[in-house]
Amino acid sequence: MPDIWGTTRLVGVIGWPVRHSFSPPMQNAALAAMGLDWAYVPFAVAPDDLPAALAGLRAAGLVGFNATIPHKQALLGLVDHPTAEAQLTGTVNTVHFTPDGIVGDSTDGPGFVAALAADGCQVAGRRVVVLGAGGSARAVSVSLVRAGAERLVVANRTAARADELCELLNERVRAGSAEAMALDSSRLETTLAAADLIVNTTSVGMYPEMDAAPVTLPALAAGAWLVDIIYNPAETQLMRAAAERGASCRNGVSMLAYQGALALARWTGQEPPAELMRSVLSAELARRSA
Ligand code: NAP
Repeated sequence: MPDIWGTTRLVGVIGWPVRHSFSPPMQNAALAAMGLDWAYVPFAVAPDDLPAALAGLRAAGLVGFNATIPHKQALLGLVDHPTAEAQLTGTVNTVHFTPDGIVGDSTDGPGFVAALAADGCQVAGRRVVVLGAGGSARAVSVSLVRAGAERLVVANRTAARADELCELLNERVRAGSAEAMALDSSRLETTLAAADLIVNTTSVGMYPEMDAAPVTLPALAAGAWLVDIIYNPAETQLMRAAAERGASCRNGVSMLAYQGALALARWTGQEPPAELMRSVLSAELARRSA
């Protein structure tokens, strides 16, 4: 628990509900390690109160805040300066109150890519398959193409959503970068077999339905990576199957830690201890699922 004084600078997270958020322990541990007189506080904000909360948190002198469900989309229309990631994903998860206005950023996708870089997984020039076409697929895919992924295949149960995401990537990020495929197509099997990086952004395999996987994996390419952005359980069925086929596997803890680290970097102007944040998060997840 941080010491709170009249000098303490505040950041936080808004959500509805917010009680499940893992961000307070992770961010407060990072702020303490950085030696800053700052504290990170959760705020339960009902959807209809969002504009009032934004004005109130600014008036109360917060440096900024993170936003989680259900506020990410609505915030985009309320900030003065949305970043490129915020505009492309249609979401804001990080707000920064600055003298020039309210900046709205989306650090989920950049956090995903930063976590890969920290683990030594190259993105530039690589063939990627993203399973799923929901909100997190959009964030992850935009950042992967911006980071130079050579070819990105989006495979989703509902074909229209995969088509829509590929249209966004091809028209607004890089022409010819993305192709949609059905989750049950035979072409997907050969595409998975040749992929350098496979990312599961579907909720299939998440607690409590942990025996499910979104696809059956073929034999994988040498040096392949698989990231499942699910973090509960710590090892999904898909990760187990990929590990058996020789892939390097990661779960969603790193993405969660690095999106938080990028928010903290924006607010403080300093380099946050991202690896410490990752280990605090892993410990907290293990504690809560024990
Ligand atoms: P979302 O927008 O609701 O998208 C869900 C995706 O899962 C869609 O592509 C959906 O396909 C697919 N899906 C759901 N049930 C399926 C099934 N039975 N078979 C095949 N596909 C299915 O959700 P989201 O916000 O992107 O979150 C998705 C997952 O990412 C969740 O597990 C969440 O916990 C995790 N996540 C992790 C982080 C992190 O930092 N690690 C951040 C955000 C989210 P359809 O389009 O066909 O419905």
